[in-house]
Amino acid sequence: MSKQIQAIRGMNDCLPTETSLWQYVESNIRQVVASYGYQEIRTPIVESTDLFKRSIGEVTDIVEKEMYTFADRNSDSLTLRPEGTASVVRAGNEHGLLYNQQQRLWYLGQMFRHERPQKGRYRQFHQFGVEVFGLAGPDIDAEVIMLSARLWKKFGISQNVTLEINSLGSAAARAAYKEQLVAFLKTRESELDEDSLRRLQSNPLRVLDSKNPKVQNAVKDAPKLIDCLDEESEKHFKGLCERLDNLGIEYRVNPALVRGLDYYNRTVFEWVTDDLGAQGTVCAGGRYDGLVEQLGGKATQGVGFAIGLERLVLMLQTLGLDKNLDPQVDIYITAMDESVELYARHTSEALRDALPQIKMMNHCGGGNFKKQMKRADQSGATIALIIGQDEMATQTVAIKHLREQQPQQAVLVSELAEFIQKLFNI
Ligand code: ATP
Ligand code: MG
Repeated sequence: MSKQIQAIRGMNDCLPTETSLWQYVESNIRQVVASYGYQEIRTPIVESTDLFKRSIGEVTDIVEKEMYTFADRNSDSLTLRPEGTASVVRAGNEHGLLYNQQQRLWYLGQMFRHERPQKGRYRQFHQFGVEVFGLAGPDIDAEVIMLSARLWKKFGISQNVTLEINSLGSAAARAAYKEQLVAFLKTRESELDEDSLRRLQSNPLRVLDSKNPKVQNAVKDAPKLIDCLDEESEKHFKGLCERLDNLGIEYRVNPALVRGLDYYNRTVFEWVTDDLGAQGTVCAGGRYDGLVEQLGGKATQGVGFAIGLERLVLMLQTLGLDKNLDPQVDIYITAMDESVELYARHTSEALRDALPQIKMMNHCGGGNFKKQMKRADQSGATIALIIGQDEMATQTVAIKHLREQQPQQAVLVSELAEFIQKLFNI
């Protein structure tokens, strides 16, 4: 036997037992974004490497260590997208969607990062994100946070996630703060790791973002960026806090929240949870007013977030909220012998015409009553239609309730659609 080929480490199959949960997550996301008037955008999975270097920043974990970068056959440097924002901005600039316009967009798809695979951290993962362009005020920051909060409510996990917010101020305020921070970090140099020492030179704010507990401890008394905000940013942040207070969204101001990407300014936020162990951030985002210009467009404000869908799915599984999803099959249609197979088939096709929202599975492969009923039960269907020669002769089907103790009943084919409509409340 030849050796089986395995999937790439950190890249997961989504098996049929899990796809219903993923579909449930995705359809609720679609419903929520639609309820806020956001439009979907789809961009390629591969982009020029420069796009990510210029947007995410050269001195970041993603660009330094995590990108899947390769030369294509023309020797162009390409990269599998590690996140969605850069591509959305690139597409927006390229197609003239951004300047002098307001856009409320969302996307959902695979992202790729070469990280050490572990629970909640993979090399191929999925993000759902929203990106809003052309709006400057805290009202839209509050809206995207509201939208994420509505998702938690929808999935029944509002009690399991906490909102952390911070402000990174303006570029000028950050530059002034950097000096204070560097002076502080120099006093703690012996406690910093190699990465942090390098960042102390190239991008000191990133040191605050370190995942190393020793470094985290060393920087816990560092001066706080939020105490050095410029007046406009301070007003913006206050405006956001007031809106969240008014809308009943609880939050914690976390001065250490700087986010791992360079393009953010002013508002940054994360939704975190204790239910996933080390990988506690389910959703992360913020404002990126400079990014559109940085990528060659005309200055346009932007704000958005991304949710790691594997982490959301893991949460639903951990909390046992992945049960009682819509069954894959509502009705299982049997055919007791070959002479009634086509009668059963015609009956079910007519039902699909009449009730397209009902999920029906036709039995295939023959077998006796017992075997067919076993399959019917395994399908998860609510009822089975039993179809044999007697039923065909009388133009009826027999309804067998699979999940409740109820007597079997005969229904005329001409009244079947109506009967099923009532039964399923549609
Ligand atoms: P982390 O601090 O966990 O590495 P990050 O700051 O790198 O996250 P972002 O780039 O902000 O993450 O991406 C937004 C969200 O995407 C994260 O909050 C997380 O839910 C998800 N995410 C990021 N990287 C991965 C990954 N390798 N596997 C699964 N989900 C991920
Ligand atoms: Mg990361």
